[in-house]
Amino acid sequence: MKNPAFILFVALVVLLPLGPSPEFWITLANYIGLYSIVAIGLVLLTGVGGMTSFGQAAFVGIGSYTTAYLTSTYGMDPWITLLIGVALTALAAFLLGIITMPLSGHYLPLGTIAWGLSLYYLFGNLQILGKYDGISGIEPISLFGVPLTTGRQMYYLIWLIVIVVVITSRNLLNSRPGRAIRALKGGGVMAEAMGVDTAHMKTVVFVYAAVIAGISGWLYAHLQRAVNPSPFSLNVGIEYLFMVVIGGAGYIWGAILGATVLTILKDQLQGILPALFGASGNYEMIVFGILLIVLLQHAPEGLWPFIRRWFPQKRSITAPTEATALSIREKPKAGTNILEVIDARKQFGGLVALNNLSFTVKTGEIVGLIGPNGAGKSTMFNLVTGVLPVTSGKILFRNEPIGKLYSRQIAGRGIARTFQHVKLLPTMTVLENVAIGAHLRGRAGVARSLVCANKQDEAALLYEAARQLERVGLKDCMYEEAGSLALGQQRILEIARALCCDPVLLLLDEPAAGLRYMEKQALAVLLKRLRLEGMSILIVEHDMDFVMNLTDRLVVMEFGTKIAEGLPAEIQQDEAVLEAYLGGIDE
Ligand code: ADP
Ligand code: MG
Repeated sequence: MKNPAFILFVALVVLLPLGPSPEFWITLANYIGLYSIVAIGLVLLTGVGGMTSFGQAAFVGIGSYTTAYLTSTYGMDPWITLLIGVALTALAAFLLGIITMPLSGHYLPLGTIAWGLSLYYLFGNLQILGKYDGISGIEPISLFGVPLTTGRQMYYLIWLIVIVVVITSRNLLNSRPGRAIRALKGGGVMAEAMGVDTAHMKTVVFVYAAVIAGISGWLYAHLQRAVNPSPFSLNVGIEYLFMVVIGGAGYIWGAILGATVLTILKDQLQGILPALFGASGNYEMIVFGILLIVLLQHAPEGLWPFIRRWFPQKRSITAPTEATALSIREKPKAGTNILEVIDARKQFGGLVALNNLSFTVKTGEIVGLIGPNGAGKSTMFNLVTGVLPVTSGKILFRNEPIGKLYSRQIAGRGIARTFQHVKLLPTMTVLENVAIGAHLRGRAGVARSLVCANKQDEAALLYEAARQLERVGLKDCMYEEAGSLALGQQRILEIARALCCDPVLLLLDEPAAGLRYMEKQALAVLLKRLRLEGMSILIVEHDMDFVMNLTDRLVVMEFGTKIAEGLPAEIQQDEAVLEAYLGGIDE
């Protein structure tokens, strides 16, 4: 947290209410603080995790109504009702999360709209919550015996909580579970292949975002000293999303910037627009809508990236020079069957992608899977790694069936893979991308990460990631953004990430595609060295020179069927293979 943006921010927060700042500045700043807290949760959920929620306002409402009801009806202390509010919000989010989080595509935002609406109407219709009039006469929060009755007094509490939320959210993002959350974007196939329980991680980030929204609601109730349903409506839920998108959905600072811009703009427009139109109304929403569309055209990442340029970028995540080494899985005995594919069949509707294919890989062997495009090679990888279920047939890994296991369970047993179409997080550093591979070898969970009690665990994972990067020859670009690497290097990054899983079987899907001659040579040297260490490798590759010089055995496929199997020298002479390749080579 030693970055200049943060120091400047804290200084600004501390200094603002000192001196002759007008009262309405404080009022605005208080609202900006409340909105920022909710928006930071949305950054994690939507910007980072890729799950769009229109329903955050409803969680603010749960926090607000809990404290409003319990303090006014039972005279409970607001600090106790804060805990109860947090617990209730977490429970509600957990229950809603397990129902809505598995929804994909458009259904997830629709789901959030549905519960956003339901909760709003629940607040408005419950007799005990005062229906649409709400609850008034709420007691202030007391701090060290001093009741915080004025906006100025609440200001410091609100902004202290904003700062705490910034710090915990940062800690969370820069940790083992945080990397897993960031890996959710793009469907989760990669995350699962690295052993991440994506459904669990989605629920975690969902509950976290809801809980901090609930805390904002608690503050709101005691700032206003009254609550009614309107600030928790779907409209407000949409405004929160506006803030995040305008500020920069991928950045925690974007949330605060967005909350600031929108709150000030709204305040100004509410004065100007009705005068302009000659009648009162929510004209500012029209302006926000237009602003959003213009922004999405010209700055889809929001406003923060433009401001961020003014601050020197400090590297926050670095690899330690030493750390406790992670334990290493024992390799099976050389020459035993490590992978047995028996009559594997895969149909996509009427299309038979794999037609009862069988082959084996022995421990310490490099087996090449070759064949023209569309032969079913990547599909084979997807079956072995649990991305797709087999239609029929069996897959045994170390003599145990794995055909029914989840991807992450298969990763946990020691199969790691790379993807034909690279799947990495382009704005994250190479080092952090590779560290995702070590997910299953770390322990620190969300709680420890939030409070920074994960130092040792983090050091071990990052050290391992750096070690694998050195092994594959990418050490020099450790701190570069993964997206800035050439495609060939991105493939090598994926190999380092796969090695971080500590696999005994490595599946490489076209690793040499996009590599220059020298890089291919280096890759071949690396793979041969891995083989010497007892690693088993199944490789799909189109470069025949590369394959012939590297592999121990080849399996040749065409239209989902095995047409040949044997030593590289035999395959080069095989009639059926020559026919298949001359018939339609796909370079
Ligand atoms: P290869 O990797 O050998 O080029 P693939 O395994 O990618 O081949 O594809 C084999 C066949 O299966 C192709 O016809 C492809 O269109 C089809 N296929 C692959 N994945 C899917 C999917 N998820 N849904 C439908 N068809 C698919
Ligand atoms: Mg393929």
